[in-house]
Order: sequence, then structure tokens, then C-alpha cells
Amino acid sequence: MAFEGEYAMLIGGERVRGGATLDVVNPATEQVIAQVPDCTREELDRAVAAARDAFPAWSAMPIEERRRLLNALGDAVLAHVDPLKRLLTSEQGKPHAEAEGEVIGAGYWLKGAASLDLPVVVNEDSAERYSETRRVPLGVVGAIAPWNFPLVLAMFKVGPALLAGNTMVLKPSPFTPLSTLRFAELADGILPPGVLNVVTGGDALGPWMTSHPGFAKISFTGSTATGRRVMESAAPTLKRVTLELGGNDAAIVMPDVDVTAVAEQLFWAAFRNNGQICIATKRMYVHRDVYEPLKQALVAYAKTVKVGDGSEQGTQIGPIQNKPQYDRVLELIQDARDKGYTFLVGGERADVPGYFVPVTIIDNPPEDSRIVQEEQFGPVLPLIAFDDFDDVVARANATDYGLGGSVWGEDEDAAFALAQRIASGTVWVNETQHLSPVAAFGGMKQSGVGVEGGVDGLLEYTAAQTIVRRRKAAA
Ligand code: NAD
Repeated sequence: MAFEGEYAMLIGGERVRGGATLDVVNPATEQVIAQVPDCTREELDRAVAAARDAFPAWSAMPIEERRRLLNALGDAVLAHVDPLKRLLTSEQGKPHAEAEGEVIGAGYWLKGAASLDLPVVVNEDSAERYSETRRVPLGVVGAIAPWNFPLVLAMFKVGPALLAGNTMVLKPSPFTPLSTLRFAELADGILPPGVLNVVTGGDALGPWMTSHPGFAKISFTGSTATGRRVMESAAPTLKRVTLELGGNDAAIVMPDVDVTAVAEQLFWAAFRNNGQICIATKRMYVHRDVYEPLKQALVAYAKTVKVGDGSEQGTQIGPIQNKPQYDRVLELIQDARDKGYTFLVGGERADVPGYFVPVTIIDNPPEDSRIVQEEQFGPVLPLIAFDDFDDVVARANATDYGLGGSVWGEDEDAAFALAQRIASGTVWVNETQHLSPVAAFGGMKQSGVGVEGGVDGLLEYTAAQTIVRRRKAAA
């Protein structure tokens, strides 16, 4: 199927163009590339009603059938990698190769989630009674996705929520709605009407969803600040929430590391997707024994990396995705400049159209600097020297965030032992950012509530229902 025609929302199996529209901008050119519907409250009500209407039949369907349909949806995504990847680059900015990785990841995520099973726990099986706890779906899930990985992070929600028997209204970020709307067209041919509805809109739409009484649950990925608002807004109707929020991940580089072997990986840990990853390395603590050689290796590699329009051959890092985030990253750079920190590379403003920021590495800024304490979500890395392991663990943990982190060293046991002392939902040893649809992923502290992925993530789309059966003979 080729994607063509205007962008429309998917509500109850119908393509809805609505009245007002929002502009979508290519961050590499600052040109408007498309218009998408600006969902009204009435259209949101219709989407919720369609999802409610679809819920009885969908939840009653054998899980094997839902599994089959989700696999078919995953295959449909995999059959459209090329057009989806081009669209993703044009709306998000990431280079084609990375966009392709995201689209393929989205397809496999659906299939991976579809391989999971809902457990049944037998609590008692005696002469008097039989008691089991099973898992039942919640109803209509409202899914809210961010702009850094629009497609794959939406699939983190679609796969498990639908497998568990829920129906859904999905809202992409207004900055990156296009690939999700094309995905909706694929879903329309595969899922029964109303099972998955996709709505697009501006700043009002998210709060309408989180306060809407028709949702049983909100699954949200975005910033910690917005996550707090989501939780507050969900409280009056006691909606379940899963919140995947921000992070300020530390990478700890041990003194025995093989600098030449890891420098490139460490670079991409921080700069992949232009640093716009919740689990990007946002602070790099390097043991003083290897600080100088690693610094030199990172700077030398940084100078070889091509920043540019993601649709151009050879581009490795695209623009920042949107203007507000671009301004925020520039503000953090300006703050570092005002404080007199040393820029090893980057730091200047690119005077070209598009939200481009050069790869920027800052030499050993103080621990209490903004660039160390705040989530930059952009291509600016503080490189920080440390001498003492207890001290570096304390610094890594001295934050309200607790999403990810990594430890790098030749002695895997020593690195593993240190990894266990980091208060984060995921810690990697000698790699980073590896996620799986069958493994739980989530934030500790203010990086989130609940998890996605794995059986634990699947269970978040269910309620535990215990059925107790008194046996006749015993009665
Ligand atoms: P954001 O919080 O600005 O927006 C996320 C989504 O929420 C968008 O769809 C937005 O339209 C919507 N939204 C905005 N205000 C809302 C409100 N009051 N109520 C309901 N919805 C609202 O986040 P972003 O800037 O799109 O994404 C970047 C942030 O997301 C970073 O902090 C990053 O670390 C985090 N993130 C976390 C994960 C994770 O899995 N933990 C993954 C990716 C990104």
C-alpha cells in the first residue's frame, strides 16, 4: 500500500479530517510539510465512544486471535519501512538510517509484545475451594507519545495494551504526528473498527484525554514535568497511569577501560538521535586515569561526525526536533559559556536554516552546573573526571531522576558490581540503550511510575481478578 492523500485521524474505523488543522514542520528546513487535524473535544468524545463500543468484542476475543492480528500489524509496518522511514525523517529530523531502525523496531516491537502471555496464578486448589487470580483488561486506554521516537514509543503502548484486550485512543506529539497517522491507515485494514483510534491535536488535547472520564488508564511517555500534570489530572477519576518520563543518565567509565575500543560507543551513547533519548548518556563520569585519552578520542571522533539534513546521504546527526527544544539546548550552551566552562568541541551556533546544534562536549564542568544537573535532551555532553568509586556512585545517584545508566570497564564483574549500586530502572554494562519487548523498562524516582515491556509491562494494562470457587462437596 502506498501512502497518499491528506492526513486524517482514525476514529471508529473512519478517517476523520475535521475542520481546523495544525502545521507540521520539517526541523531540518523549518518548512511546513503537512497539515494534520486539530481534534475537537467532540471528536475526542467520538474516539473514546468508538473504543468503548469496540471493547466488549475485542476483550472477549481469544488472546490467540488478538496475537495474530498484532503480528499482522507488525508485518504491515515491516512491509512499509521505506515510506515510513522517509516520513519519519521529514517530521522528526533523524537520519534515514536511524529512521529505518526505528520503523523496523516498531514492527518487531508489536510482534515481540504479541508473543507475551497473561499469567494465571492458582492460589488454592484444595478439597474446599479453588482460587485463581487472572488478568482482565481495563477498558479504554489513552496513550500519549513524545516526539523523539514517535513510532516505536507508540508501539510500546499499542502492543501490550491491545494484546491484553484493551482498546485505545492514541495521541502522537503535535510535533511528529505524520508517521503515526500513516500507521493508523495500516491498522485500519487489520484491526476491527474502534480498537485503535488515533487523534492529533494541539496543547489542549492531552489534558482533555487525561481528564476524560471514558479512559480507564493513561499510558504516557514524555517529560517529568508533564508527567506530574498527567498524574494530577488522572486522579479525580482514579485512572491507572503508566508514566515513562525523563532521565539524567550517568555513564561511569572505569580506569581499566579500553579507551580505543569504547570511545565510539560512548560517543553514540550520548549523541545518538542528537541526544534526544530518554536513556541517552547525559553525564559522562570518567576515571581520572583515562580522562585525558578518552577526552581526546571523543573529540577526535566528534570532529568526523556529519551533522545535517537527515534525508541527505551520509548524515549521522540531524537537527533538534523542534524550536522550543532547540531554544532550550541553546540556552544551556549559553549558560555554560557565561559560566566560563571549557568547550572541547562545538558550542557555537550554526547559522543555517533548521534547528541545528553542533556536537558539543564540555570539559569537566562543576557538579552543580546546569548542564550536569538538568536533562539537556540535546547534543551537549558534560565530561566529568572522578577519582573515587563511592563518590561517583553518590554523584550518579544525587538526582530526582532514575531512568538508566551504564558502567564501562574491562573487568566485567567490577563493572557489574558498580552497576548494581546505581538507583535506576535499567543499568547497562559495556553497552547502552538496549531495550526489548520482553524485558521490563521503567524509571525509578521521578523518572516514572510503572514499567513498559515484558510481562510486568503487560500486566499494567490489566486488573487482577481473583475468582474463588467453593467446592460442592465441601459446602
Ligand atoms: P512532553 O512531556 O512535552 O510531551 C509528551 C506528550 O505529552 C506529547 O504528546 C504532548 O503533546 C503531550 N502533553 C503535553 N502536555 C500535556 C498535558 N498537560 N497533559 C497530557 N499530555 C500532554 O515530552 P516531549 O518533549 O515530547 O518528550 C521529551 C521528554 O520525554 C524527555 O524528558 C524524555 O526524557 C522523555 N522521554 C521518556 C521516555 C521514557 O521511556 N522514559 C522515552 C522518551 C522520552
